[in-house]
Amino acid sequence: MTQLIDTFGRNIDYVRLSVTDRCDLRCVYCMPEGFKDFDTPENWLNFDEIERVIAVFGRLGVSHIRLTGGEPLVRKNIPELASRLAALEGIEDLSLSTNAVQLRKHAESLHKAGVSRINVSLDSLQADRFKAITKGKLSKVLDGLMAAKAAGLSPIKINMVVMKGINDDEVEDMVDFCIEHDFTLRFIETMPMGETGLDASDRYVNLQDVRSRLEQRFELIPGVMPGGGPARYVQVAGTEVRIGFITPISQHFCETCNRVRLSAEGTLYLCLGQDDKLELRPLLRSGISDEGLEEAIITAIARKPERHEFNDKPSQIVRLMSKTGG
Ligand code: SAM
Ligand code: SF4
Repeated sequence: MTQLIDTFGRNIDYVRLSVTDRCDLRCVYCMPEGFKDFDTPENWLNFDEIERVIAVFGRLGVSHIRLTGGEPLVRKNIPELASRLAALEGIEDLSLSTNAVQLRKHAESLHKAGVSRINVSLDSLQADRFKAITKGKLSKVLDGLMAAKAAGLSPIKINMVVMKGINDDEVEDMVDFCIEHDFTLRFIETMPMGETGLDASDRYVNLQDVRSRLEQRFELIPGVMPGGGPARYVQVAGTEVRIGFITPISQHFCETCNRVRLSAEGTLYLCLGQDDKLELRPLLRSGISDEGLEEAIITAIARKPERHEFNDKPSQIVRLMSKTGG
């Protein structure tokens, strides 16, 4: 079977697909307040174009697609796109990253369309604080989460970006919340992602310290769910709940990177922290053949950088996470 293997021997089998760079929230670490400089919808790949590109990736050995953004649920008809992608040969795993603001109305149709599991951003369980971090309403997110659970989406993973002096006192509460609802919890170190209005280095919390703190209250069993993504997991003893630590800053995981990111405008980014890319939209709109597309993608993968440089060059990235397809 064809596989996408880069020059460092990594097998690329995962595409994070951004369907829009827009969002109905304004998380402090992701988008500047009042930000409006969005891509124009005419430049977004349409569903036919997305389906064609993902079909090519499927033939090249990619099996996991994650719908993301921006906020994927602000784009119309995402369940329709999901069912088209889920039906493609080779695509075995279709997942979604969402802020859950609009999940309540979409949970069931997404599940029916073939989305099996979801990741939900949730940085605080306190309504005032949630609003200060995201400008949104916590109750909508909680409603969305409960609808997802009722619809049978599983596992549901909560992503919490831990920020010093903003929400780092809530890590234990978040563990309790996930135990109560049987959600997987992932703590994420804040990354410097362009001019967002938050000084990432100022708010940085080392997740090794968070883990030590949790160990005072919970018995954590290490080494569960090995392989796969960037999180290192432990299990809370006496429960089914897993806690992952995503540490792009304190311990980067580039040597096992298995992914590339496709932006809403059709730019294939080869690394979250570097500018190496392939513009697919002009190729698609100038009538390239499927074989030509395959070749362009294989050639691009050969240029995938070895690693990001968030520590050495924290100011290097000028691209917002919402644009890259975080
Ligand atoms: N809107 C969806 C959401 O919030 O889940 C999907 C897109 S969002 C860009 C994907 C993930 O990136 C979220 O879990 C968010 O917390 C994370 N993220 C965004 N900016 C970040 C940053 N500067 N550092 C760490 N994580 C970040
Ligand atoms: Fe929107 Fe997700 Fe970025 Fe928050 S992290 S502003 S929800 S895209």
